[in-house]
Amino acid sequence: MVPHALLFSGIEGIGKKSAAKLFAQALNCESANTAAGEPGKNGMPLPCGRCRACRQISDGSHPDIITVMPRKGMLRIDQIRELNNSLALKPFSAAHRVAVVADAHTMNPEAGNALLKMLEEPPGGTILILTAPQPTDLLPTIASRCRHIRFNPLGAHDLSLLLMKKMRTMRAEQAETIADLADGSCTRALRLAETGWREQRDWVVRAAGLDRPIDAKQRSAALAMAFAAQLALRKDHVGTDLEILKTWIRDLSIWPYQPRMVVNRDRRDALASVRAGIDGRQLTSLWETVEKAQRAIAANGNMRLTLDVMALHMDDIFARRQAKRTV
Ligand SMILES: [Zn+2]
Repeated sequence: MVPHALLFSGIEGIGKKSAAKLFAQALNCESANTAAGEPGKNGMPLPCGRCRACRQISDGSHPDIITVMPRKGMLRIDQIRELNNSLALKPFSAAHRVAVVADAHTMNPEAGNALLKMLEEPPGGTILILTAPQPTDLLPTIASRCRHIRFNPLGAHDLSLLLMKKMRTMRAEQAETIADLADGSCTRALRLAETGWREQRDWVVRAAGLDRPIDAKQRSAALAMAFAAQLALRKDHVGTDLEILKTWIRDLSIWPYQPRMVVNRDRRDALASVRAGIDGRQLTSLWETVEKAQRAIAANGNMRLTLDVMALHMDDIFARRQAKRTV
């Protein structure tokens, strides 16, 4: 028997929403119970992907498969009420109506309570699927009413194979680098691949002054502030910019010991020349500075101020070794 509420948990971009779609297709596929439906790994029929129901679900036009997504980063009570109203009506055609509440952790308390009522008195013939990074991100009363299914991050190797399959022209070395940067998230990997991560990386390390031997005389607080300003202008990209920067710094740290383990394999020359003028302690401080900024931004800190502080602190760290030399 299929439970009436499911919770799919796992990091962003791991495939929770795609799995919800596949699940809705498997329940409603018109040929799943005939010869066309081949049983999947767990004995559940796989959807054919070709029948009317499968196609409608896949392009989002099926009237009985309802998805609610956050607006401006938040799920609001009117969205949950609207969902409740549509579920009060009879299904149009589906054998199993499916309602997906995506990123359920973004619900404010009012929306959460409205959803809780729905879970306490589930609308007939409907399966609710909630998605969230972790069950603990939801009200315990909500999480406890759902059957929990956890999605584990993909390993870098699997992710690189997936990338090469999706993007035929991608070379193995490039796919491996992107897979490392994406940290198990398929969506993040595809986004990096599509936005040309190489250009993004080259831009970030150049703007940070980490693509050439460090010369403290060439640096200044004004330059650091300019770097922060450039980063801040890129709003939506700041998250990946900082991630890329951290990976670069990590590569610089391990370069003298494990050169074969670096992620940025295509920039070995730059790594070698920068590393010659910077020591391990400086690199650890740099990494921690970027990490700290990332955490502050994730906690909804003031982005511009956080980036200013980060850039100035980085500048300080660069100056350290040169200062020691002149003493
Ligand atoms: Zn089908």
